[in-house]
Amino acid sequence: VAGTARASSGADRQLLSDLEDALGRRRVLTDPEVCAGYTRDWTGRYVGSAAAVVRPERVEQVQAVVEVAARHGAALICQGGNTGLVGGSVPRPAGALDQPQIVCGMSGMCAVEDVDPAGRLLCAGAGVTLSAAQAAAGRAGFHLGIDLSSRGSATLGGMAATNAGGMQMLRFGGMRARVAGIEAVLADGSIVSRLSGLAKDNVGWDPAALFVGSEGTLAVITRVMVRLEPLPAHRVTALVALASVDAALELLAGPVAALPSLEAAELTLEDGMRLVAGEFDLPPPVGLESGAAGRGGRAWLTLEAAGPYDPTAELAAAVDHPFVLGAAVASDANGRARLWAYRERHTEAVSRLGVPHKLDVSVTRSRLGELVGLLPERVAAAAPGARLVMWGHAADGNVHVNVVGPPPDDDGVDDAVLRLVAELGGSISAEHGVGVARRRWLRLVRSEGDLQLMARVKAALDPGGMLNPGVLEPLP
Ligand SMILES: Cc1cc2nc3c(=O)[nH]c(=O)nc-3n(C[C@H](O)[C@H](O)[C@H](O)COP(=O)(O)OP(=O)(O)OC[C@H]3O[C@@H](n4cnc5c(N)ncnc54)[C@H](O)[C@@H]3O)c2cc1C
Repeated sequence: VAGTARASSGADRQLLSDLEDALGRRRVLTDPEVCAGYTRDWTGRYVGSAAAVVRPERVEQVQAVVEVAARHGAALICQGGNTGLVGGSVPRPAGALDQPQIVCGMSGMCAVEDVDPAGRLLCAGAGVTLSAAQAAAGRAGFHLGIDLSSRGSATLGGMAATNAGGMQMLRFGGMRARVAGIEAVLADGSIVSRLSGLAKDNVGWDPAALFVGSEGTLAVITRVMVRLEPLPAHRVTALVALASVDAALELLAGPVAALPSLEAAELTLEDGMRLVAGEFDLPPPVGLESGAAGRGGRAWLTLEAAGPYDPTAELAAAVDHPFVLGAAVASDANGRARLWAYRERHTEAVSRLGVPHKLDVSVTRSRLGELVGLLPERVAAAAPGARLVMWGHAADGNVHVNVVGPPPDDDGVDDAVLRLVAELGGSISAEHGVGVARRRWLRLVRSEGDLQLMARVKAALDPGGMLNPGVLEPLP
C-alpha cells in the first residue's frame, strides 16, 4: 500500500526481525502513520512503499543496516530532511521494484562534532540540518557560505548527496566547493573516511568529489566536513523592482555583477510576487503598482551584499538605473527577512495551488532572457490553461519552472520545457538533481559515453543495485 510500511510476507518479517536485532526495536519503524512522513516527498508528487524505516545514530549502525539489506537483497533509500524535489528521497511505488525497500532516515546522526576556527572547518553528522550547522558556525563567528530556504529540514548529508546550490552560490560555490571531507559507508559495508581537514592533499582520488551529487546511489554519507567563511560585519539586502525581465537581466549583467560584495541575486516575476503576497498576506512588494510594466510583466531582483565594510552605498549606486521602478533596502535581521520572504516563500506558495510540476533548469547567463521569454508560450502549448510560476537564482542562469494544472503523472509539459532547455544548450537539472523525476530526459543532455561511465562506477561500487535503485539511471 503506497505510503505505508507493512510486513506482508515471511521474507519481509525476517527482514524486519534482522533489522531489529541489528539496531534495536526503537530504531526500526513500521507503523504506517509514522512511516507515511518518510514515504511521501515534499511536493506530494512521489509516494512510495517501504518494508521499514530505520533510524541509525552511529556509523556502525549504518554498516549493520547495509549488511542486513545486502543479505536480504533489499533496496536502501537514504533520506535526510526529505526536502529533495526530484523523488529520490522516498522509496519507489509499491510493485515498482522486485525487492523490499528500506528507508534509511539519517536525522538521528545529528551532532555537530567540531567547529575549527583556525582551520575554518565544521564537521558534523550527515543528519545535521543546515540551520543547526549555521547556528553552530555562527556562534564561532563563521557561516557556511551556502544557504537554502529549506534550511530548517535539509541536512548536510542530503545537501552533499544532491550537490545543493542555493542563494549564495554565486559568491561561495555549491556543495561541491563547500565540502572539505566526507565519511561514507559503501554497499559492501566498508567505511571510507577522508576527514583530515588538510587544505592540500593530492594522494589519489578524492572520495568527496565522487559522492557529492551521487544522490544516495553510491554510498551512505555519514559525516560531512564543510568549509567556513568569516561572518561579515555588514550585510544589506535590497528588493529592486524593474519594468521587465530584460531590464532585470541588463542590470544584473552590468553594474550589479561588478559588485565585489554581492552574495545573492535572485529573480522573481510579477505573477509569483502577487501569488506570494496574496497567499501569505504580505504587503504588496515595492514597485508592484508603479510605472509601466514591460514585456512579460514586472520583475524583481533580491540582492544581498556583505563584507567587512558597509556595502549599502555601492549597492545603491549599482541599482541606480532608469528601468528601476523602486527599491526597498534593509540591513537589520528583521527587515532583511521581510524582504527575503517574497523570494523564499515562492516554493510554498506554488504548492498551495496544487501538486506542481517542478523543473529546475539552467542555461548560460547570456541565454537566460531567451529562456524566460520562450517558456510561457511553450508551456501554454503543452498544457493549455496551466499556471506557470517562475523564479530563480538569476546570477547562475538557473530558473525554477513550476507548472500547476496538468495531472502529476502527465509529463507532457515537463518534456516541452526540458526540450526547450536542451535546445538552448542548458541543463535539465541545475541544482535539484535527477532523482527519478528527470530519468526520462538524461539522454537529452548526456552522451552514451557519459552514461556508460556512470553505469560502470555504479556497478563497481554497488554491484547488487542496493542503493537508491532507479535514481540517476536513464530510462531504457
Ligand atoms: C522550500 C525549498 C527550497 C529549496 N531550495 C533549494 C535551493 O535553493 N537550492 C538547492 O540546491 N535545493 C533546494 N531545495 C531542494 C532540497 O532542499 C535540496 O536538494 C537539499 O539538498 C536536500 O537535502 P535533504 O537533507 O532534504 O535530502 P533528502 O531530500 O532527504 O534527499 C535528497 C537526495 O539525497 C540522498 N541523500 C540524503 N541524505 C543522504 C545521505 N546521508 N547519504 C547519501 N544520500 C543521501 C537521498 O537519497 C536523495 O536522493 C529546496 C527545497 C525546498 C523544499
